[in-house]
Amino acid sequence: MFLDLNPDRYWDEPAACKSCKRPILSEHATEQLELPFDTQHKLHEMNGIYHAECARPYLSIALALAALGRFPH
Ligand SMILES: [Zn+2]
Repeated sequence: MFLDLNPDRYWDEPAACKSCKRPILSEHATEQLELPFDTQHKLHEMNGIYHAECARPYLSIALALAALGRFPH
């Protein structure tokens, strides 16, 4: 069962931040995380739209992995 823990969801908001689950409003800066499909670590499951602030740790992970040469790009 899907459990909605977001107390702020009282309007129609299709896009929710993957990290904090709060709605992403038009005035928010956003980041789209696009990691390649990865069966071992399931990194692609983190893919989605984030607030720019919330995406920061995930983007560092992506950059670190890219720097290690794990992902061709
Ligand atoms: Zn967020």
